Amino acid sequence: MPQAKDHVYLDYNAGAPLRPGARECMVEVLSDVGNASSVHTDGRRARARIEAARDQVASLCKTRTRAVTFVSGGTEANMTALTPNWQDQGAPYYLDRLLRGATEHPSVVAGGRFPASQQEVIPVEANGVIRLDVLKDMLAVGGPALVSVMAANNETGVISPLAEIGAMVARAGGFFHVDAVQAAGRMDIDMDAWQADAISLSAHKFGGPQGAGALVVRSTARVPAPLMLGGGQENWRRAGTENMAAIVGFGVAAASAEKEALDWARLAGLRDRLEAGVREICPAVTIFGEEAPRLANTSCFAAPGISAETALIAFDLERMSLSSGSACSSGKVSVSHVLTAMGADEATARCALRVSLGWNSQDADIDRFLEVWPQIVDRLNPEARNRAA
Ligand code: PLP
Repeated sequence: MPQAKDHVYLDYNAGAPLRPGARECMVEVLSDVGNASSVHTDGRRARARIEAARDQVASLCKTRTRAVTFVSGGTEANMTALTPNWQDQGAPYYLDRLLRGATEHPSVVAGGRFPASQQEVIPVEANGVIRLDVLKDMLAVGGPALVSVMAANNETGVISPLAEIGAMVARAGGFFHVDAVQAAGRMDIDMDAWQADAISLSAHKFGGPQGAGALVVRSTARVPAPLMLGGGQENWRRAGTENMAAIVGFGVAAASAEKEALDWARLAGLRDRLEAGVREICPAVTIFGEEAPRLANTSCFAAPGISAETALIAFDLERMSLSSGSACSSGKVSVSHVLTAMGADEATARCALRVSLGWNSQDADIDRFLEVWPQIVDRLNPEARNRAA
């Protein structure tokens, strides 16, 4: 069902609306017959469509087409990368440790194919940024490590110092994986500057369809062992017939996202106006990661005594969709591991709301939020208006 006009969608980090261009191409492709692995005309047409999408995704990542392997989404891309078994220059290479950030997405926290005994956590500063001093010490001891750090956090938008991390990992002879699911289309993707061996992408965060993603490698000579076996698709890196319509939509969305770099300043303006308005009503609000580099589209804040769970229901009744913490953890009342790692106490973490914007966000969305916010504060905790910062 298309979104109603009076519905305000502020949850792009959970999933962005499908871009019209992506939808049109997907609908067209759904009428096609043919498996991209077949040699007949229909198969070759399917293959051409997939390869065109591969070009578009590679271009978003400023890399070569062959670097892109299509998978079912960010979770599968992460799961594929997080393996002790890699190939390096044609020879098997075994990594016996996984070092991952404390605020990673649950699909990285799960550790992929590393046994629990080989997983270590890199702590973050109070602003959400990786502790580089600790990472340096961790890299100085032990065997070859795979380091996995997200480009930008899904809950707070905090951006990691990837070039510094990549240089440290390279000096230590480790491999570097970056979960760029929230970053793609929202900040510059530069695998060379990051010295990232592999990055994960997901189409539905920037206007592509759900259920499509990619693992992109910097060099096809250094690749993780495939997760899915049993077929030669994707150059033997991911077995199984490709989800052609989703891949085509992914490509079109990537091409649109690539053209939008100037829109980031517009989104930052919307986000800043929202945060100023929230703070005007509740001076004691905590804005997580405020002092760190952040994505332009994300704001995560907690106003004292305004339970996120209750506020979300109140916003929903006003036909407004936002989130508390990550989408994967909403629905169950657990405290965000991201905010906990940043040192937030439980009471504050339970008040954390996340607003995330994207390609179709408008001034009117922020106007409406700022109209409803004071009403919600007055209903849930009028005291929050009087509490000084
Ligand atoms: N990584 C991050 C940082 C995410 O935010 C998400 C989804 O929210 C994922 C990975 C998983 O992506 P997908 O939903 O495509 O499996």
